[in-house]
Amino acid sequence: MIVGGVNDPKKVVVFALGGTIASTTSSAGATGIVPALGVTALLASLPPFEPSLTVEGVDFRTMPSGDLTFGDLVSLSDALNGAFDAGAHGAVVIQGTDTLEETAFALDLLVRRAGTVAVTGAMRSSNEVGHDGPSNILSAVRVAAATTSWKPGTVVVFNDEIHAARYVHKGHATSPSTFVSPSAGPLGWTIEGRVRWTSRVSELAGVSVPEESRLGHVALVRCTIGDDDRLIRRIAELGYVGAIVEGFGAGHVPARVVDALEALNDEIPVVIATRTGAGETLRHTYGFPGAEIDLQSRGLTFAGALDGLKARVALTLVLAAYPNRARALEAFAAVITSLTD
Ligand code: ASP
Repeated sequence: MIVGGVNDPKKVVVFALGGTIASTTSSAGATGIVPALGVTALLASLPPFEPSLTVEGVDFRTMPSGDLTFGDLVSLSDALNGAFDAGAHGAVVIQGTDTLEETAFALDLLVRRAGTVAVTGAMRSSNEVGHDGPSNILSAVRVAAATTSWKPGTVVVFNDEIHAARYVHKGHATSPSTFVSPSAGPLGWTIEGRVRWTSRVSELAGVSVPEESRLGHVALVRCTIGDDDRLIRRIAELGYVGAIVEGFGAGHVPARVVDALEALNDEIPVVIATRTGAGETLRHTYGFPGAEIDLQSRGLTFAGALDGLKARVALTLVLAAYPNRARALEAFAAVITSLTD
């Protein structure tokens, strides 16, 4: 579907994947809403664009975002790279909010083009009063169409705010202001169709787009008070190709699980993140067993400023993209370094 002028080279391509924003009751008397609306219906909710802007829609998936897979994200990044190569100035991805922070970060790693990718969705469906879908899509199109003197990469545009993919987090189960960046705050906002940037982020190191067949599963385990090492000891035998451990505070685990973690890391890469939801892991402060100095000396990798979900996205992609563990961990380290450079 094409909306707007066709003679101007400024084109934004919108990919629709489903989610609440696309959800409605499937038939009279049905219980609950389900993703059903395609990109034509989503774009029809917007006012007309100026003739200089062409907006092109693509139906990519129609599903709850919890059903998306890394295979879907790899296909989507191929499609986005293709859209940019075909002349798009920017792109919008519309999907469910539940896994939106993971999609956005995967695309930030995989879509290596100059244009901005703006990811959005809605917390209220079109059946609800105060549906936030149309305003979120409109803002996302504005951000994708904006001309910037720097490269924002992939951002999340929601509730009139712009968030960096590397920091954004869904922080509320139902609120339209659910997306927050606890470590850094938003990068800017949209107002009356204009885009305001108040901060910038450094350019993220990229990851080559992997073959879908090489994608494996990375486990995510959270440290909790009083827990033991039983789960950790089972991870490798279950076939996981890597593991993220969300440690306490700045990246600490109970002393009682350290030996199991070291043994697991001999088999598959283990990355320690912070379970706090903000900040970054320490490198050389605490000296007790299970703290960062001990874990690094045992060969474990640290997630730096990536939270557990984002670290899992990065580890999944590097393990699939590169031929061996050393090369994959080198690429992972490059991502961590580039975040805060
Ligand atoms: N369950 C929905 C999803 O597909 C929630 C949403 O879009 O907000 O993620």
